[in-house]
This record gives sequence, C-alpha cells and structure tokens, in this order.
Amino acid sequence: MDGLPTRESYPGLVVMPESAAEVREIVRLLHLTGTPFVARGAGTGLSGGAVATPDTVLVALTRMNRILTIDPVRRRAVLQPGVVNARLSEATAPHGLHYVPDPSSQAACTVGGNVAENAGGPHCLKYGVTTNHIVELEIVLPDASVLRLGSPHGEPWGPDLVGLFVGSEGMFGIAVEITVRLEPVPESIRTMLADFPTVRAASEAVSAIIATGIVPAALEMMDRACVAAVESSIYAAGYPTDAAAVLLVELDGGADAVEAEAAAVASLLLERGARAVRSASTPADRARLWQGRKKAFGAMGRIAPDLAVQDAVVPRSC
Ligand SMILES: Cc1cc2nc3c(=O)[nH]c(=O)nc-3n(C[C@H](O)[C@H](O)[C@H](O)COP(=O)(O)OP(=O)(O)OC[C@H]3O[C@@H](n4cnc5c(N)ncnc54)[C@H](O)[C@@H]3O)c2cc1C
Repeated sequence: MDGLPTRESYPGLVVMPESAAEVREIVRLLHLTGTPFVARGAGTGLSGGAVATPDTVLVALTRMNRILTIDPVRRRAVLQPGVVNARLSEATAPHGLHYVPDPSSQAACTVGGNVAENAGGPHCLKYGVTTNHIVELEIVLPDASVLRLGSPHGEPWGPDLVGLFVGSEGMFGIAVEITVRLEPVPESIRTMLADFPTVRAASEAVSAIIATGIVPAALEMMDRACVAAVESSIYAAGYPTDAAAVLLVELDGGADAVEAEAAAVASLLLERGARAVRSASTPADRARLWQGRKKAFGAMGRIAPDLAVQDAVVPRSC
C-alpha cells in the first residue's frame, strides 16, 4: 500500500540496496530473468505507483539515504534518492541554504519519490516544482545500463532529458543519484493568517493579491471542514473554527520589501472582507501555522482511515 489506501497488494520480494552499484546489479539480474520491478521511496505517493504485485520485486530505496556532497558556493547538493525531503534543508541550513520544494509530506517522502512525481508544495507558487530544482540525475534503466542526465552547471546541449525523467512516475528507470539546486534562505519571511466569513471572499482575496503583481512565497486556503479537522487534532494551529475559510499568506525576500508587501497585502485582505489578519510573531508561531496546513491530511485520518485526495485546477477568474 502507499498513500492511495484503496489499492493494496504484496510484492513477491523486497530488496533494499544501499548503493547505486547494488541497484545496478539487482536490475541486471531482474532484466536477465525478465522479472518486473517497482521502485519505492517512502510510499507516500497518492497514485499507487509504489505498490508492487506478487509477481514483482519491490526495490525499496530508503537505505540509500546519504547526502553525498553540499557545495555552498555553487549552491548544489548531491544525494542518494532515499534522502527524506525535510532532512535535506536541515543539512543545508548551516550554509544559509535550503531545498525549496516542500510537499506537505516532506517529513517522510524521499527526494527520489519527489523526482518521480515532480512533487510540488506550498512554496512552489513562487519557486516552481521539483523539475525546476533538479540539475543532474544518474539513473539505472530497466536493462541495467546507467545514464547521466543533465549537468551540475545547468542546461547541457540537446533535449531536456532531466525534464523528461522528472515526473515519469518510476516508469523510465531508477534515479540513484540526484543533484539539486539550493536556494539562499530568504533574509526576511512574513507569514500571515487571514480569516473570512465566506469561501468566495477568501477566493477573491487570492485573485486580488495576484492582480497586484506581488508573488507570495505561498498562498494557501483551507475551508471550515478542513480547519475543524486540524483544530480537533494534535496539529491544532490556532485557526479560527468559526471562519468559513482561512488564508495563509507567506511573503519572503529582503526585509524592506517584505515589510512593504506585508502592509499592502494586509490592507487588501481586510478590504476584501477578512475579519482579522495576524502575522506569526516568532519562528515557532510560523512553524505552528504551517504545521496545521501541512498535517491536514493526517488530521483527517481521525475522521476516516481511507482518504482519497484529488488535486483540481480551476481558473482564478471563476
Ligand atoms: C499527507 C500527504 C501529503 C502530501 N502532500 C503532497 C504535496 O504537498 N505535494 C505533492 O506533490 N505531493 C504530496 N503528496 C504525495 C507524495 O508525498 C509525493 O508524491 C512524494 O513525492 C512521494 O514520495 P515518496 O518517497 O513517498 O515516493 P513513493 O510513494 O515511494 O513512490 C512514488 C513513485 O515514485 C517512484 N519512485 C520512488 N523513488 C524512485 C526513484 N529513486 N527513482 C525512480 N522512481 C522512483 C515509485 O515507483 C512511485 O511510482 C502527499 C502525500 C501524503 C500522504
């Protein structure tokens, strides 16, 4: 099983390699015997992609969890695919750098799984999704040949094969080494919580913010049902439970710019009907506001153990 709880089956065999060489050798044997295989990171995927059937070998990559190098000058890190997303930014923080894509599952999911799923997260509004942060990959193809795609320096000549592999859902091969782009931790971050009497007013506030030309680092809405689930769980973040919707707005950048943008966004939110707007007062307060949003799926687990999640896209003008 993975994060899609309606699909469950057991693999015929599980192998847990520790190195790229071991992956290559395993895949070579599987190729020789014509045995199908499925790669698996943390198993948080929401589409059943990491689920293997009894005639299949599961290649679990969680033991390949080493960060191989961090280059603070060129802002690159080279890692094995089983590194947990959140661990990467923790490791680069002493250099004033972080890895931006931050899926809500980041405390568990692996960067290899993020590559396969082209994972996004709240901060992808401003910074883009996984594909924008991967510069080079070493992959083992199903016939056990090894390929290096991309370049640590940027785009190589020819087609964008890194772009082709990222988001291929494990269908093209196994990523065994990943070179990521790191970004400087912003000088200033302001996280604001606004609560609204209607979902429409909150939605229109989103469009109004975007229309100003300000690009928040993140802009997330939760409706009353979601807030109720979070607030009655261990992830309670202090969201107002009588609001029809809450908006989390995060701005980042230079201190003066963030100050000016925060003032503009706060007055816009109030103009658009927010009952109240408050800013996180400390890093711990900010983390708590985000925890509520990021653990919302987990909070819903109290209501029902099987949760089918769908992402939908609608034009902002609707
Ligand atoms: C509570 C929760 C919140 C989530 N929030 C988000 C979110 O905000 N944004 C988002 O995008 N997703 C989100 N997801 C979905 C999921 O976490 C992501 O898709 C994540 O990238 C999966 O990583 P994983 O390590 O768990 O991969 P797995 O689930 O183990 O595998 C996913 C797919 O990747 C393949 N794969 C794994 N490792 C490799 C590798 N090294 N090489 C090639 N293929 C590989 C597998 O075969 C499978 O097809 C969420 C899931 C949960 C349960």
